[in-house]
Amino acid sequence: MMKIGFIGLGNMGAPMAKNLAAAGHEVTGYDTADISVEGVAKAAAMEDAVRGQEVVITMLPNGQIVRRVHEAIIRAADPETLIIDCSTIDIESARAVHDMAAEPGLLSLDAPVSGGTGGAAAGTLTFMVGGSDAAFAKGKPLFEIMGRKAVHCGAAGNGQAAKICNNMILGISMIGVCEAFHLADRIGLTRQAMFDVASTSSGSCWSLNTYCPAPGVGPDSPSDHDYKPGFAAELMLKDLDLSQTAAEKNGAATELGRHARDIYKAFVDGGGEGKDFSAILAKLEQG
Ligand code: NAD
Repeated sequence: MMKIGFIGLGNMGAPMAKNLAAAGHEVTGYDTADISVEGVAKAAAMEDAVRGQEVVITMLPNGQIVRRVHEAIIRAADPETLIIDCSTIDIESARAVHDMAAEPGLLSLDAPVSGGTGGAAAGTLTFMVGGSDAAFAKGKPLFEIMGRKAVHCGAAGNGQAAKICNNMILGISMIGVCEAFHLADRIGLTRQAMFDVASTSSGSCWSLNTYCPAPGVGPDSPSDHDYKPGFAAELMLKDLDLSQTAAEKNGAATELGRHARDIYKAFVDGGGEGKDFSAILAKLEQG
């Protein structure tokens, strides 16, 4: 049993904190929006969710907020506290908060997740983790409760690096699958026939086989529920912005990543906000 502070109890954080409490850990939560979570004690101030905890986990919207919150956590934390940030943020902010934690000698991990709100609720997330071996060893039992898999990707910031590479593949592949369905429509191939062939051929990929963007085709997915997310288009845009920023800063040639970012930006700005990211297919149909 561990004493755990959990900061950021939104769509992802709340079910993750709930699962830790259900597994028998003593969890104290804090969110500026005053959110109550089953089994989780509510702290009146953020410092109350930090002082005396063995582990403090954050699940917050962006790098700027993570930097600010981590400054306050590091001031209030006990010397042996492990700090884990599970938010999806830019690599620079991730590395900056590791450096901040290292100054007073605190262990820290960046551990963004894949699996969405469904995975958070079911405790089946995948964690991509950056930080020292000692920090990973301490955090691993908690990842095993909140998720199904935790991959130690290397040093500080490498969890975020893995996350943005994965989601760049996802954004590009989803657009590719949607374009193939759109082309099939125009050239007289049924969507079902396209799925039956491509999902068992070299065109197979997660965006097609598991999360098919065409309603009524393939396994149940957001397209079968009027594109209710799932994984919202604006979150995909956020992740593609992060990968393009990293690519530009580091001289990586990611032409398709850039194009995918531009397509999602146009989609979100054009009314796609709040729709699942697979709704790009409906957008192509409209021309
Ligand atoms: P969310 O907006 O539902 O939750 C964020 C929470 O942080 C909110 O409840 C907000 O009140 C709280 N918060 C903001 N500033 C705070 C502060 N200073 N102190 C305490 N609490 C504060 O977002 P979410 O969907 O839970 O996503 C959280 C993170 O997880 C994001 O970085 C997102 O990119 C990532 N992520 C989300 C999904 C998804 O499907 N939702 C999937 C993978 C990763």
